[in-house]
Amino acid sequence: MKSWVEISERRLLENLRAVRTLAGGEDSAGKQERAEVLGVIKANAYGHDAVKVAAILADAGLRWLGVADVEEGVRVRTAGSNRAPAKALAERGLPRQTMRILVMCGLDAEDCEKVLEQDLTPVVWTVEHVTMLERAAASAGKTAAVHLEIDSGMCRQGVDLAGVATVARRLAGSQWVRCEGVMSHLASAEVAGSEQTLRQQARFARAVQVVAAEGLRPAWLHLAASSAVDEGGTLAWMRELALSQGARVMVRAGIALYGYCVSTAMGVLRPRLQPVLTWKTRVIGVRETEVGESVGYGGTFTAASRMRLALLPVGYSDGLRRAASSGVGNGWVMIQGHRAAVVGRVSMNLTTVDITEIEGVEVGSEVVLLGEGVTADDHAAWSGTISYEILCGIRARRLEAGASPEVAE
Ligand SMILES: *Cc1c(COP(=O)(O)O)cnc(C)c1O
Repeated sequence: MKSWVEISERRLLENLRAVRTLAGGEDSAGKQERAEVLGVIKANAYGHDAVKVAAILADAGLRWLGVADVEEGVRVRTAGSNRAPAKALAERGLPRQTMRILVMCGLDAEDCEKVLEQDLTPVVWTVEHVTMLERAAASAGKTAAVHLEIDSGMCRQGVDLAGVATVARRLAGSQWVRCEGVMSHLASAEVAGSEQTLRQQARFARAVQVVAAEGLRPAWLHLAASSAVDEGGTLAWMRELALSQGARVMVRAGIALYGYCVSTAMGVLRPRLQPVLTWKTRVIGVRETEVGESVGYGGTFTAASRMRLALLPVGYSDGLRRAASSGVGNGWVMIQGHRAAVVGRVSMNLTTVDITEIEGVEVGSEVVLLGEGVTADDHAAWSGTISYEILCGIRARRLEAGASPEVAE
C-alpha cells in the first residue's frame, strides 16, 4: 500500500466533547442550555472518511451532520441505514435516532427528489429553491424541512437583507416546505470582535426579525463554525438572540472535530484539540549519496557530505504538496520519532528524505507523513495554505478505494 490514513476515534470524541462543553452556556434563568452541535463532514470529513466519522459521531449521540451536497448526503445516509443499531446509544438506554443531514452548499432541481427520498435537509435562499422543493415534496407526499441562509456579509451564498422578506413570505405560505432554521456564516470568525463579525451579527439579527415578522418560527438559529466557538463572543451573543426568538442555537463544527482550528490569540477551544488523522507510508528504498551529488528534479539539492536517503512512494499526486521540497517549504516527515527532512523536490509519486542521523531505517520502515511531530498546520505553513486544504487534499490509497481508514484506539 502506497500510503494510508488512520484516525483516532478517541481523539475525535474528545474533540467533540470539547466543542460541546464550550458551546454550552447558561440562559438568563441560570439553566444550562447547551447549543446543539452539528458535525460538519463535507469533503469526505476533511479527508477523514465521512461514513466512518458519521458512524462515530452518531454513536456519541450527535443528531446533526453537515455535508456540502446531496451526493455526499446520500452516501452517508445510505451507509448509515445499513448500520446495526448504534451500540453505544443502546447501552445508555437511548433510542436510536435518525441523523439529520444538512446540505449546506447549494441545491439543484435534479437534487430535490433525492432530498425527499433520503430525508436530507437543504439550505435554501431563493424563491426558486422553495418552488423546486415544493414540487418534489408534493409529489412525494411529505413535507421538506429547510434552513434559510442569510447572506450577512460574505457575498457568497444566502439571501441578502433586501430579499429576506420575499423568501420568508414564500416559505411561510408553503404547504410543503417548512422553515426549520435560519443561518448565516461568518467571514472572519477567528478575529475576536472584528468589525466584519459585528456587522454580520447585526445583519443576521435584522434578518431574523424579518423572518419572524413574516410569521415563521424557526426552531434553530446558527452562525458559528469552529473559529467562532474558539473565539467565544459570537456564541454568547447568539444565545441571547435565540432566547429572544424562542429558538435554539446550533453550532456547525468542522475542523475542530478533526483537531485543528484557525484560532484567535485568546482561543478557548484550540488548546483542547488533538489531531485525529495520521497519514502514513513505508520506505521503498534506501541509498547513500557521495559529496557533490544532486538529488531529484532540477538538481535543486546538492549533498555537502555523505548522506543516507530514504525513498517514499508518495508525491504531490497523493497530496504531499510540492511546496514541501527543500529550499521551498523545507518540509519533513517523521521516522521512528525523528524528523527526516525532504531532500530536493517532491515529485509526482516519489519523495526523498534525509535519514543520515536516524539509525535502523530500512525498506519497509513506517513513515509518518502527517501526524505526531508533523501536523497539518506544518504542512500548511510549508505550502502557504491552511490545515483545511491540506487535510482534504490527502489522497491515501485506502480512501481512494472507498474503503474505511483504520480506526486506532
Ligand atoms: C465548512 C462549513 C462549516 C465548518 O467550518 P469549520 O471552520 O471547519 O468549523 C460550517 N458552516 C458552513 C456553512 C460550512 O460551509
